[in-house]
Amino acid sequence: MSEKWLIIGQGLAGSVLALQCQHQGIEFEIWNDETQYCSSKYAAGLWNPVSFKRITAPEHIHDLLLHCTTFFERCNEVLGVKSFHHSPIHRIFPDAQYGRDWDMKSILTKYENLLGVPEEKLPLWQQTFQSGSVLTSGWLNVPEFLETTRKHFQKSQQYVNLGKHEIEKRLADSETNASYNRIIFCTGLAAMPNAFERIRIIPNKGHVLSVKAEQTIPQHIVHYGNFAIPTDDHRLRVGSSYEWEKSDTTVDDNIVEDLMKKLREHLPIALHVESVQVGLRPTVIDRNPIIGTLPEQPQYGIFNGLGTKGVLQAPLMAHYLIAHLAERAEIPKVFSIQRFYNTKN
Ligand SMILES: Cc1cc2nc3c(=O)[nH]c(=O)nc-3n(C[C@H](O)[C@H](O)[C@H](O)COP(=O)(O)OP(=O)(O)OC[C@H]3O[C@@H](n4cnc5c(N)ncnc54)[C@H](O)[C@@H]3O)c2cc1C
Repeated sequence: MSEKWLIIGQGLAGSVLALQCQHQGIEFEIWNDETQYCSSKYAAGLWNPVSFKRITAPEHIHDLLLHCTTFFERCNEVLGVKSFHHSPIHRIFPDAQYGRDWDMKSILTKYENLLGVPEEKLPLWQQTFQSGSVLTSGWLNVPEFLETTRKHFQKSQQYVNLGKHEIEKRLADSETNASYNRIIFCTGLAAMPNAFERIRIIPNKGHVLSVKAEQTIPQHIVHYGNFAIPTDDHRLRVGSSYEWEKSDTTVDDNIVEDLMKKLREHLPIALHVESVQVGLRPTVIDRNPIIGTLPEQPQYGIFNGLGTKGVLQAPLMAHYLIAHLAERAEIPKVFSIQRFYNTKN
């Protein structure tokens, strides 16, 4: 008998899972409450394999990149809109030692396709030291991707916008509940059913600015401690701040000022803030995503905790989750929900 899955939530996690299910011929429906908080709408959408603090990449980086690029390139075609872009990220070195570390790292096998050699000065950008580029990186226009995914599944009648109370009512009905082999919660920071009480999704607040320049700006993504992504030839998306455990979405003027101060130090041209967006990232205490099913109720699954790296992580996580649900493949321990259920109490 063929299976039918129910995906609850259509942020980045729900969208990526649904598109992967479609690709693999798994029957599913999406129920999304469009009035609930959606972190993905605020994402700057960068996918960057390198953490610039210590110039490191996560252990699974080559799998993450392979799945991220293959998946989103296919989405560009399936959805008919080019939301996924490849583009180097230029890192301005904060000091000479950082440049030497970059050089040393770039010759290691793990980093040879990730880190480019130090380069000449970027036009208009203020640089005391050199910069280096990340070779396999870019950005996803996340709001556009969500919108086209939603329309795609509305057309095939696999997407329904339902209020959360209606969803609770339907799930409480044993007949409805039994018509889905799997019910996977992709609800980000929203409360999940009581059965998931051991899982704590922690908000991480971030400010992103839309900044206008009075002159034409070069079309490079630049990281100088914060990032600046050109969105057209006069505008940049600038950010983000990281404020742990803050769950309000009010604008903090000090943070906006600080982001602009650092930007002006590195890009000394006339700039002004056009708008400020504040969002909350769904994160987990150990900073890894959570995927898998409840040990006592395997019908109920979770795909959450994408944190600061939703674009890079979501395709590989969806792949692990589907392989687990459909073929009982093991999920790597660091990402598995099992890590919260190992103790007896
Ligand atoms: C300021 C900021 C900048 C960021 N920048 C980047 C970046 O540059 N690169 C990157 O990769 N990531 C970035 N992120 C992180 C990224 O946005 C998140 O990791 C990702 O969007 C999380 O997606 P999600 O689907 O898990 O959650 P969400 O996007 O929050 O989606 C949850 C969905 O579930 C729905 N929902 C909630 N409750 C219910 C319910 N009861 N019933 C039905 N539906 C429900 C909501 O409506 C929503 O559609 C950034 C985040 C922020 C806030």
